[in-house]
Amino acid sequence: MNVRTRIAPSPTGSPHIGTAYIALFNYAFAKHHGGEFILRIEDTDQARSTRASEQAILDALKWVGLRWDEGPDTGGPLGPYRQSERTSIYQEHSRTLVANGAAYPCFCTAERLADLRRTQAAQGGQPGYDGRCATLSAGEASKRIQAGEEHVLRLRVPAEGECVMQDGLRGEVRIPWNKVDHQVLLKADGFPTYHLANVVDDHLMKITHVIRGEEWINSLPKHLLLYQAFGWTPPEFFHLPLLRNPDKSKLSKRKNPVSILYYQRAGILPEALINYLGLLAYSFEDDREHFTLDEMAAAFDIKRIGLGGPIFDIQKLQAFNARHLREMSPTELLSRFKTWGLNEQAWLRIIPMAQPRLNQLSDLVPLAAYLFADRPAYAPTALLAGGVDGARLVQLLRIAQWEVEKAADWTFEGIKQIFGQIAEKENMKLKQLLPPFFIAITGAAVSLPVFDSMLILGRDMTLRRIQYALENLDSQGFALKKDKLKEFEKDYHAKYGL
Ligand code: GLU
Repeated sequence: MNVRTRIAPSPTGSPHIGTAYIALFNYAFAKHHGGEFILRIEDTDQARSTRASEQAILDALKWVGLRWDEGPDTGGPLGPYRQSERTSIYQEHSRTLVANGAAYPCFCTAERLADLRRTQAAQGGQPGYDGRCATLSAGEASKRIQAGEEHVLRLRVPAEGECVMQDGLRGEVRIPWNKVDHQVLLKADGFPTYHLANVVDDHLMKITHVIRGEEWINSLPKHLLLYQAFGWTPPEFFHLPLLRNPDKSKLSKRKNPVSILYYQRAGILPEALINYLGLLAYSFEDDREHFTLDEMAAAFDIKRIGLGGPIFDIQKLQAFNARHLREMSPTELLSRFKTWGLNEQAWLRIIPMAQPRLNQLSDLVPLAAYLFADRPAYAPTALLAGGVDGARLVQLLRIAQWEVEKAADWTFEGIKQIFGQIAEKENMKLKQLLPPFFIAITGAAVSLPVFDSMLILGRDMTLRRIQYALENLDSQGFALKKDKLKEFEKDYHAKYGL
């Protein structure tokens, strides 16, 4: 068998370390078996997908050393590899599903579905579609379609019994059919949902082994129904354990940075990151801890993946990185340092800002040092020196964090707008709002311009520094406790929009 695996990221934000983690295992498995590793962009969520995010994901995966045989940038015989360019393929396949009864049109309105959800929540029942349109006769359904009534296509799910599935890592997994939702496959606008597009593409792209995160295991019954309805042989499935925070909760950006761009910016080496991610769920027969991507691929045995919740611990990652750095020759280290940030391109962005503030050449490096740091150094009380009260500052930092995450793109104008809007909505002058942000971002009350600094640092490092500031305030007894934070977040959405 010619092994073919894939990574199928959705381009809806910064490149996630979880994507590199899953990609790594797919890559290692395919390469170990002399097969192909494919990259497919799953941009079915039209509202949230962006080309900028897609590009950042491709760049980040290349940065960690991964290469794919087929993908939207490299092309290949079974493309296009971007789902938004395959809409007609999904529509055609959805007709097959309706024709053989595996899918049915559903005319329920958004109001009815919202009512249903409310009732189900109030009764503490299983949420999900109640199957009302599943019993419409074919004649009635086609009459309503011809009359132009808006509808989606849903998957027909057996009412009783259970789905018995095989997971390559777990063995047999059973899920009762009544826990499986009548999934929408095709939306009213004719675009597919993840489930339809994913199954159709895995088949058409001849994927033999689907290796993905365990959050998808509950979707497998739906996928298997689709394979069956199309009369296709499903690939083998392997669901990898999810990365976790040190407190064992699911890895989340609230507790750990999850963007590859942050780690890149902080000066983690790509080979250290990939080594660490590999080690989290994989053990070599000889228990070695340090290996390259190629070594992992050469030795790879999928059965050696551990199912315990792998804990992503930044300090351990840093220790790995330290070892990689210390083993380099000074010349190599210098060259890595240049590629990372100490290069002409970087200085040419900084020098124009620094120039008016220089008295001596020796002023430049101290003035710009924070742009090369991970965590800018400042006195514990510095954040409060601007006069904003600690509890209030926690709120402002949180708002900034959410607004920065939400911003469509990361430009000077965009950043200016974020802080202008916060000042306006919080009834503050920009001059009052910005001092603590100067400290949080640059480490000093007087520094290079703060918006330009955020631009140069990038969105993910900016977020990290806001997080550092929150941690600093937390250690001084200023923090929003969990329930208060939830409430505050709700108010924030009411005020700033979703
Ligand atoms: N687009 C999905 C994701 O972002 C892919 C899941 C899968 O591999 O089936 O995780």
